[in-house]
Amino acid sequence: MTESRPRGTSIAHIGIAVRALDELLPFYRDVLGLPDVPLDDADGASIAGLAAGESLVELLEAKTDDSPIARFVNKRGPGIHHICFAVDDLDATLEKCRTVGIRLIDETPRIGAEGKRIAFLHPSATGGVLIELSEY
Ligand code: ZN
Repeated sequence: MTESRPRGTSIAHIGIAVRALDELLPFYRDVLGLPDVPLDDADGASIAGLAAGESLVELLEAKTDDSPIARFVNKRGPGIHHICFAVDDLDATLEKCRTVGIRLIDETPRIGAEGKRIAFLHPSATGGVLIELSEY
């Protein structure tokens, strides 16, 4: 729970699955000029964070063959993996999803790469887009 004023929903980050961070980090960092943001590993992936204004680009490289990113890249190739929206009240938003029948991957929030509480929605309920919700 945050005590601060409501901020409204915004794009927190875009998760991009890559075969190797080294292949694409120079493009985002050096060509586009996005500054590095250190992030923890999460869900069996090494993550390179890059600041794009108020949002982040997260490059996701699988560390193990059975991780979600490895399965994604093997099946569909590298590319956009998910979009993360920051919401003012994560628990209330998840409850709204339940109410309207949006299938959740994470029934209860867990801690994501930025150290915030997050939960994923199932892409079958959101037009094929994997959506992550995060607290501010
Ligand atoms: Zn994410």
